[in-house]
Amino acid sequence: MQLAQRLDRISEPQTIKMAKLSRELKAQGMDVIDLSLGEPDFRTPAHICAAAEKAIEAGYTKYTPVAGIPELRNAVCTKLKNDNQLEYTPDQIVVSTGAKQSLANAILALIDPGEEAIIPTPYWVTYGAQVSFAEGVPVYVPCGIENDYKISPEQLEAAITDKTRLFIFSSPCNPTGSVYTREELQALVSVFEKHPHIYIISDEIYEYINYTGKHESIAQFDTIKDRVVLVNGFSKGYAMTGWRLGYIAARKEIAAACEKIQSQFTSGTNSIAQRAAVAALLEDNTPSMDMVKAFRERKDYVIRSLAKIPGIRINNPSGAFYAFPDISAFLGKKDGEDVMNTSEDIAMFLLHKGLVTVVDGAAFGSPNNIRISFATSMDNLIEAIKRIEYALGLLQ
Ligand code: PMP
Repeated sequence: MQLAQRLDRISEPQTIKMAKLSRELKAQGMDVIDLSLGEPDFRTPAHICAAAEKAIEAGYTKYTPVAGIPELRNAVCTKLKNDNQLEYTPDQIVVSTGAKQSLANAILALIDPGEEAIIPTPYWVTYGAQVSFAEGVPVYVPCGIENDYKISPEQLEAAITDKTRLFIFSSPCNPTGSVYTREELQALVSVFEKHPHIYIISDEIYEYINYTGKHESIAQFDTIKDRVVLVNGFSKGYAMTGWRLGYIAARKEIAAACEKIQSQFTSGTNSIAQRAAVAALLEDNTPSMDMVKAFRERKDYVIRSLAKIPGIRINNPSGAFYAFPDISAFLGKKDGEDVMNTSEDIAMFLLHKGLVTVVDGAAFGSPNNIRISFATSMDNLIEAIKRIEYALGLLQ
């Protein structure tokens, strides 16, 4: 059967593939610990669920405005002002079915065929795929562990061409957990000031999962604010992955363009979820803070334990809930006759010999690494690290 050629430009994310495989093995009765998942293992806080129940009871189950209900767009403006000292008006906010759709809208609105998007590597799997789908050209800039996997202003400058249209990054970063400081953002801003044709997509979905203190947004720099599309959502900070809610804040023309695209694909996102999101933004935030406390304890344990395994090199994540060890010392080693040629071989080996699911770094453009999610219980993590250490010890 012949399908459209555009399908050749993307593949299913490795993260989703590994989670699927893990579920299949579990269904066969294998005792697999899944560390591939990018979602909090916490329940959505009760007051948020209560707001959704209230919405259903009140019959709040109809179509909503494409860009989101006014209460939610207002609440997003309030949040951006209180948390981030950013002034936006509701017509600059577009609510979507997950930050993934927000990113897709923004990329489709900003990139023309053949135009380039600079993406610091390691990156979140979806950025390059969405750029390619829009017939743009992803330009990957490798960033090493020595600079905590962050792009330097010199690297950014060197990657810019006449065709550069976009710069896409996340801070806190999935998969590395790196968080850009205000000074580091300032240095990048100085480069963007010289290149007014470039727009910046700033993915801040892990904003609240930050172990270093204050979240900084590149939109806080007035000289380039007009060119920043701030992307955020509810999946991570409020444990609301299944509710499917994300948003952008951007200049009015970009917001209107995203609304126009969304109007022909999905329309306004789920009415009930939007009511719940208003409660998330405007009511008590303690459950989220408790969740972050748990992530911090797990992070400390996981990083400390992984760092002790001979051959592993690792950065200390400042945010998100992933460890991203460099496992290049194990490449070329053997398990019997099987040679570990790639990080995917290592991920498969850990699954079959260690019964632990991780994601290979190649999925994030970083074939020397694997990604380990610590969004699971401490008991699971203790057992999983034991298994990883045992399995890696088998390699010769
Ligand atoms: N950006 C990053 C960096 C992510 O890790 C994710 C989720 N894994 C998303 C965006 C998408 O989130 P959502 O569930 O809101 O679509």
